[in-house]
Amino acid sequence: MALYDVAYGDEHIRFSLRFLVRAARSVSIHVTPDGAVLVDAPEGTTLPEVKKAVRQRAAWVWQQLQASKARKLHVLPREYISGETHFYLGRRHMLKVQPAHGDELGVRLWRGRLEITTAKRDALTVRYMLEGWYRERATEVFARVIADMSPRVGLRRAPPPLRLLSMRTQWGSCSPKGEVLLNTHLVKAPRPCIEYVVVHELCHLKELNHSERFYRQLDRALPDWVVRKAELDNMAEVLLNR
Ligand SMILES: [Zn+2]
Repeated sequence: MALYDVAYGDEHIRFSLRFLVRAARSVSIHVTPDGAVLVDAPEGTTLPEVKKAVRQRAAWVWQQLQASKARKLHVLPREYISGETHFYLGRRHMLKVQPAHGDELGVRLWRGRLEITTAKRDALTVRYMLEGWYRERATEVFARVIADMSPRVGLRRAPPPLRLLSMRTQWGSCSPKGEVLLNTHLVKAPRPCIEYVVVHELCHLKELNHSERFYRQLDRALPDWVVRKAELDNMAEVLLNR
């Protein structure tokens, strides 16, 4: 996706642009919770037309960007020190960073605490170790949820290939080749929310677009998906704060 910008007063609004073959008739503009501006335009729209559309809604976009900035200020950056809490499966766990004696290094969830045993206790090392632990947990948890949820979507074949990626703006996606991509941070969410994202992506294996048929399938597979999605949306800011 290419990056463009338009002037707004003394400021600039940077946006990424996608041309969609089967898009709606007009240009649509989204601002993600973490402040990315995404513009979808029907194929055939010229760049000046796109920029004009962005300029027309610049005040609204700017307002969304300011709100996103304010939210980020609220969520304090992580320090990776003892006493700080980190999420796993929807629960906060207190971090305990302790010096290594001998060769016992690693991360473990023990009596509700996330214990990190390391020779180097600087934030970068601890963060790196914790991210490795989340990746391991995510691989296992997601595979289990995919196996549990597949029958609901009526998938009889082997589970789809799964790929993990640490992302800022989305929880998951599904490639046309049938590979499911999930955000590693999703393992921090409650299991019902993880199930929602997994079922959403599994439904895409049958219906690639967000068509009416897609939503009918989702409704059948997970009747209370709206509630689960709302819970996840509410937690997004906190869960995505590394
Ligand atoms: Zn989707």
